[in-house]
Amino acid sequence: MNVNDSDKMSEFLLQQGLERCDSCFDADMVIVNTCSVRFSAEHKAYSLLGRWKELKDKNPNLVIGVVGCMAQYASKEIKARCKYVDFVLGAKDFDNFAKTVKRFVTKRQLTVNNDRNSGCTEVFKYITIMRGCSNFCSYCIVPYVRGPEQSIDYNIISDEVKRTVDKGTKEIILLGQNVNSYDFGGVNFTGLLRKISELENVTRIRFMTNHPKDLSDELIDEIAKNKKICRHIHLPLQSGSNNILKAMNRKYTYEQYETLYEKIKNKVPDINITSDIIIGFPGETDKDFEDTFNASRKLQFGGLFVFKYSARPDTPAAKMANQVPLDVIKKRHHILLEDSNIISKKINEKYIDTTVEVLVEKYNSETKTAEARNSQSIKVFFNSEMDLTGQIVDVKITKVLPNSMSAERTQIYNAQ
Ligand code: SAH
Ligand code: SF4
Repeated sequence: MNVNDSDKMSEFLLQQGLERCDSCFDADMVIVNTCSVRFSAEHKAYSLLGRWKELKDKNPNLVIGVVGCMAQYASKEIKARCKYVDFVLGAKDFDNFAKTVKRFVTKRQLTVNNDRNSGCTEVFKYITIMRGCSNFCSYCIVPYVRGPEQSIDYNIISDEVKRTVDKGTKEIILLGQNVNSYDFGGVNFTGLLRKISELENVTRIRFMTNHPKDLSDELIDEIAKNKKICRHIHLPLQSGSNNILKAMNRKYTYEQYETLYEKIKNKVPDINITSDIIIGFPGETDKDFEDTFNASRKLQFGGLFVFKYSARPDTPAAKMANQVPLDVIKKRHHILLEDSNIISKKINEKYIDTTVEVLVEKYNSETKTAEARNSQSIKVFFNSEMDLTGQIVDVKITKVLPNSMSAERTQIYNAQ
C-alpha cells in the first residue's frame, strides 16, 4: 500500500517537471513516506529524518516532507522533534499533497523542466481498489490512521487498469487491506476480478490482502478457472491459538482457517499460500505459541512472515495488562522463523527441474542476472545475456532457497 502511495507521489512530482536524482545530497526535495504498523518502521523514519537534518544544514533551501500513516497520528511529535521539516501530511490528508508540493516549488523557486517525457512502462503496477479498514483487529493501527473501509468505483479501477496495460504493463496487483470485502454498486471482489480479466491486454492479475473471514467459495472457483489470476494467495493466519485469535478480534477459529486452507488447496492445486503470524500478542502462553508452531508445521506455507508483536498507540491490545516480555517474544520469533524457512524451502523444492513461466521484473547488466517472479509469486533469479525486463519467459528451476529460486533459460526464442 505504501509502495503504491509512493509511486503515485513520484508520478505527480515527475508531472510537475521535477526530476528523480540518485542521491539525496543532490535533491531539492526529499519526502519520507512513513508506516506505523510496527514501531520499528517508525524508528526507521526518525533515524532517516535525523540524517536529513545534515542535508538541510548544508542546503537551507531543501524541502523536507513527511507523509503517510505515522504522519497521520504523530504529526505534532514529528514537528516538535524535527523542527527543520517543512511539511507533515497524514495518510488521510493525501488530497493536499499536490497543493503542498506546488506551494513549495514556487516558494523555494525550484528548477522544473516541463519538456521532459516522464512516462516509462512499469512491468507491474499496484492499483488501489479499497482504502482504509473497518476490521479493528485489536493489535492494528491501520483503521485509526487510514480511516474506515471504502471501496473504489469499479469504473475508475477499470480505467486505471486499461491505461496501465495499454502502456505495456504485464501485471496488475489489486490492493486493499481486505480485498475480499470489496463491494461497489453490487459488484463484489469476484465480480471485479472478472471485469478486469476481461479487459484487453490484461495478462496477469494479483491481489492482496485476503481476510480468512471473508474469502468466499465463489472467489476460489474464479481463481481455479481464470488463468489470468496468479496462483498465489496471501492469507494471514496471525495465530494458531483460538484464545489469541479471539483476543485479536480476527473473527475466525483455527479450525475454520484450516478448512478454508484445505478447500483452496483442493480446488486450486498449483496455488501457493503464504501467511503472516504475530508472535507475542498480549497473553500468549507457551501453549498458545505451541499451537501456532504446530499450525505452521501442519499447514506448510510456501512463505511465512513472522512479526514480533509491537504495541501500537490507541489499539485495545496496547492497553491489555498481560504484555509478553521482549526476550520471550524474541525467542519464540526465532524458533518459528527458523522452522518456517525450512518448511518453505522444502515446499518449493517441488519446482526443482521443472519449467516455470516467469515475468522478468529487473535486469542487472553488470552481473547479467534477471530477477523474475512466477505465478506463485516466488522470486526467480537467472543468468541472461539479454535484458528481458517486462517479458514472460520459460525457465528451468535449478535451486531453491527459503524465499527465492535460481533457474536457467530453457528456450531462447520463447519471449512474448
Ligand atoms: N490488512 C492486512 C494486513 C495489514 S498489516 C491483513 O489483515 O492481513 C500487515 C501485517 O502486519 C499483518 O498481517 C500483521 O501480521 C502485522 N501487524 C499488524 N499490526 C501489527 C502489530 N501491532 N505488531 C506486529 N505485527 C503487526
Ligand atoms: Fe489491520 Fe486487521 Fe484491518 Fe488488516 S484487517 S489492516 S490487520 S485491522
